[in-house]
Amino acid sequence: MYKISLITGDGIGPELSESALQILNAVHDRLDVKFQIESIMAGDAALAKYGNALPKSTIDVIRKSDACMKAPVGESAADVIVALRRMLNLYANIRPAKSYPYMHALKDDIDLVIVRENTEDLYTGQEFELSGAAVAFRIISENASKKIAKYAFETAIQRNGKKTVTCVHKSNVMRKTDGLFSRVCSQIAKDYPQIKFEQMYVDACAMNLIRKPESFDVIVTTNLFGDILSDEAAEVVGGLGMAPAANIGDDFALFEPVHGAAFDIAGKGIANPSSFILSAKMMLDWLGKKHNDKKCMYAADKLESAVYGVVKKGVKTQDIGGNKSTMEFTKEILSLLTYI
Ligand code: ATP
Repeated sequence: MYKISLITGDGIGPELSESALQILNAVHDRLDVKFQIESIMAGDAALAKYGNALPKSTIDVIRKSDACMKAPVGESAADVIVALRRMLNLYANIRPAKSYPYMHALKDDIDLVIVRENTEDLYTGQEFELSGAAVAFRIISENASKKIAKYAFETAIQRNGKKTVTCVHKSNVMRKTDGLFSRVCSQIAKDYPQIKFEQMYVDACAMNLIRKPESFDVIVTTNLFGDILSDEAAEVVGGLGMAPAANIGDDFALFEPVHGAAFDIAGKGIANPSSFILSAKMMLDWLGKKHNDKKCMYAADKLESAVYGVVKKGVKTQDIGGNKSTMEFTKEILSLLTYI
């Protein structure tokens, strides 16, 4: 029995959470992976109710769970997700971008993953004002760079990809910080002779993600660059509505869509739940590997096949060219989960 904490979020978060809850209940009932799911609050709604975007009671439930599913939160995102990533030392942010048939991807053969350092860089929020200027600390440590570089090479080994790691930075301008990141990644590369290692400036990477996205396998980069490049990569393969992510630490992991709370479509019942359902797929994969639980890994594969089976049938939400509602789309996935 896995204990799952579920942050229901803001904006389209509650709609995505309802969809994911129905899917996980079906996985529990039909694929024999047992969950106990506890819904908790964090974000703008928690701030309004408790005066704190990340209440202690929420942190307590997360700490007692085996994994956390987090729907997007609104304006208080930095106080929730950035805080949780650092508090739980979730140092690796994994953002796959894969082109699937029947989706509007730029190319058909894209299958890359962005491995983003998740705990430092400009996202530590250490900013201050200084006589007419605003200053931010950019911290890039040897320790965190080593950990993320190793994670990227191990990912390249496990994936059925091009066995290539591309280290993305801007060391020609930020010589100290990105210089360190690039140097550490090159050192770690020496321990993985079976993996091809290349380096690319972030502006060139942004261009190449449009120009030849199929050439990438694993991209390893710092926090801010990874955030921006992963939104771009998501659009290249068909849109943010299909983009899942995992925040991974040594013992705990949190799964969430790449996108934010999308207030422009909140409450309309039209959000694409795939980003959160595919995040649940990543959770099943992670739990399966951690606990050597074959049922979990099987369920992960079946969930992914069901999402793409639905898209293949032409059943789509508005953002990917269809007219189905969040719940209609969810029901279609549930119907495919029945027959496997
Ligand atoms: P953040 O800065 O918190 O990441 P953002 O303001 O950049 O958020 P997002 O919420 O990430 O914006 O999304 C950008 C747009 O993409 C949304 O306004 C919405 O129209 C669309 N979008 C995002 N997620 C989905 C989804 N799951 N289904 C449909 N459309 C989506």
